[in-house]
Amino acid sequence: MSAPGAAPNAISAELREQFSASDSEFNEIISALNSFSIVAVTDRRGIIMHANDRFCEISKYSREELIGQTHSIINSGYHPREFFKEMWRVIGRGDVWKNEICNRAKDGSEYWVDTTIIPLLDGDGRPQRYISIRTEETQRHLAEEQAHKLAYCDRATGLSNRASMLLMIGTAMSRMPGCEFSGFIAASVDDLSVVNDAFGYEVGDRLLLDAAQKLTVLGEDGLSVARIGSNTFAVLLPRIGSDHRLAEQQAAEVVHRVLALLSGPVDLGSGVVVDASASVGYVLWAAPGIRQRRHDQENGEAATADGYIETADPHEVIKCADIARKRARRAGGHRRMRHFRQSMLDDAQQRVHLVSELRRGIENRELRLFAQPIVDRERRVIGEEGLIRWLSPARGLVPPGDFIPLAEQTGIIVEIGEWVLDEACRVLAAWKDDPERQHLTLSVNLSERQLRVEDFAERVSAIIARHGVTPGSLKFELTESVLHTDLDRTIRLLSLLRAEGVLSSLDDFGTGYSSLSYMRHLPVQQIKIDRSFVMAVGYDEQAAAIARTIVQLGRSFELQVVAEGVETEAQFEKLRDLGVDAFQGFLFARPRPVDETLTAI
Ligand code: C2E
Ligand code: MG
Ligand code: MG
Repeated sequence: MSAPGAAPNAISAELREQFSASDSEFNEIISALNSFSIVAVTDRRGIIMHANDRFCEISKYSREELIGQTHSIINSGYHPREFFKEMWRVIGRGDVWKNEICNRAKDGSEYWVDTTIIPLLDGDGRPQRYISIRTEETQRHLAEEQAHKLAYCDRATGLSNRASMLLMIGTAMSRMPGCEFSGFIAASVDDLSVVNDAFGYEVGDRLLLDAAQKLTVLGEDGLSVARIGSNTFAVLLPRIGSDHRLAEQQAAEVVHRVLALLSGPVDLGSGVVVDASASVGYVLWAAPGIRQRRHDQENGEAATADGYIETADPHEVIKCADIARKRARRAGGHRRMRHFRQSMLDDAQQRVHLVSELRRGIENRELRLFAQPIVDRERRVIGEEGLIRWLSPARGLVPPGDFIPLAEQTGIIVEIGEWVLDEACRVLAAWKDDPERQHLTLSVNLSERQLRVEDFAERVSAIIARHGVTPGSLKFELTESVLHTDLDRTIRLLSLLRAEGVLSSLDDFGTGYSSLSYMRHLPVQQIKIDRSFVMAVGYDEQAAAIARTIVQLGRSFELQVVAEGVETEAQFEKLRDLGVDAFQGFLFARPRPVDETLTAI
C-alpha cells in the first residue's frame, strides 16, 4: 500500500525550496523521506547515485546492483518512449515531474509507483541532480483496473457494457469531421422471455451468451460491440463516410450481418435447440449542423433527408437505435429491422405523454366500465361483457384499443385490471339482489401481464370475497396470446380460480396461432369466435367454415360458443344455423355504462 499520500507532496514542495540546499541539509531531507518512500538520487545524466532500502526492497536489486545504473534497469516496457522523453523534457528544464510509472523488479514482477522527480539546480539554475520519490501504488492500480472492468465490462458476456459504449460513441463523436456520418445498431434476441419461461433462466442466459459470442466476430472488422441492456446488444460503426446514401448502405450491410449472425438454430444444451432470431434497429447520426452545411454545399438541394439525426449526445444515439429496435420487435421481430426515423421519436414522446396522462387519469378516477350484453339463441340476455373506457377531460371518451396496449407494455394494466375486476364485482353484488339479473354472468378481459403477477389468484379471491360474488357469475376472457407463455402456470391459475367459482373464456378465438392440443388441458368453459370471421360469415365460405369448425370444437370439448361482433340479422341467422350458442354485437346492443345495467329496463 502507499505511504501516507500527502507526505511526498509536502516534502517535494519543501525540496523545491531547497534547490540550492547544502549537502548536510540535503542528507537530512533524504533521511526524512527514507522511512516511508522509495528514494533514489541520480546525477544529471540519470545515473543512480543513491538508492534507499525501500527502493532495494521493491525492485529486488541490491544497492550495489542499482548504483551506477540508470532507471532503465527497472523499465517494464509498459510506457511508450514518448512518456520518458516528456519526463526528461520537464525535469531537464528544472521543473518537477509527477506521474504514475509501472516498473519491473529483478524477478520480473511489475509494480506501480506514484513518482515525483525533483531536479536540484546548480547556481546557474541548471539541474545538477535529480531526486525521485516514489510511493508504491500497485494495490491501488489493481483495484482501479478491477473497478474499470466492473464499470465498463459486462460480466455475463465479457463484452463492453453500456457505459463503455457511451464513451466509445463520445470518442467517435469527438473524432468525426462535421460532414461525416456514423452508424449505431441495437439488436435483441427474440423470444428470450419464452425461453426463460420454458427452460429456465440458465438456458436463457446461454442463448444470450451465444449471441454475444457470435457478435464478437464483428470486432475483427474493427467494429465495437457491447451489451447495452439485459437483452440488447449494440454495434458501433464510426465514421462511415460523408455520402449519406453510401453510409446508409454500409450500415444496412452490417445490420444484415447482425441478423444473420443471430439467426438460426442454437443448441442450448440438455437437448434444447431453439431457432433463434433477432430484432434490429439502427440509426445514422452526424454532428449538429450537418443539414445546414450540406444545404449550403448543395445549393439548397436534398437537405431534407429524414434518414439521420444530428446530435452530440451519445445517449441520444442509443435511444434512437433502441426505439427503432423496439419498433422492429413490436412489428413481430423475427429478423425484422427498422431504420430510425424522426417520426418514431415523436411517436415515442407521445406515448410517454399518454402514459403519464393515463396515470393521472387513473388517480383522478377517470376510468369507466361499460358493458355489452351477450344473448342466447332466443335473444334473451344471459350475461354482459365489461369493456373499459377512459373518460379523459382532454381526449374525451378513449376506447381501450388506444390505451390498453400501452398499459400492457408499461405494466399499468395490472392496476387497471384490478380496478375493472373490483368494479365488475361491485355490479355482480348488486345484481345478486335483483331477480331479473341474478342469473347473469359478467365477463372481464384479462391481459397476459395480469396473470404474471405473483399472487394473482389470491388477489382475485380477495376481491371476490369482499363483494360476496356468487360462484359462476364472474368470467375471465383471455386471448390465445396468454397461452404462449408458461402454459402450465396459466392452467394452474385457471383451475384454482375455477375451484372458487370463476369461469373462463377464450376471446378472439381463431386469430392467434394456437395448437389445438392445449384445448384438452385448458380449464375454460367458453370460446368466442373472433369478429373477423363473424363479419365475413355471410359471404366468405372460408370464414363460415372456420366458424363451423369452432362450433364443432366447442361441442367436442363441451364449451359454450359465442359469436362476437354480430351486426346484422343475416349474420345472426347464419351463425345460429351453424349452431352458435350465444351472440354479442351492435345488432343487440352497443356497450353502455355498466351502471345502466343496474336500472330496470
Ligand atoms: P374484446 O374483448 O374482443 O371486446 C369486443 C370488442 O368488440 C369491444 O371493443 C366491443 O365494443 C366491440 N364490439 C362488440 N360488438 C361489436 C360489433 O357488432 N361491431 C363492432 N365493430 N365491434 C363490436 P372495445 O370495447 O373497443 O374493446 C376492444 C378490446 O379492448 C377488447 O376486445 C379487449 O381486448 C380490450 N379490453 C376492453 N376492456 C378491457 C379491460 O378491461 N381489460 C383488458 N385487458 N382489455 C380490455
Ligand atoms: Mg373480450
Ligand atoms: Mg374479442
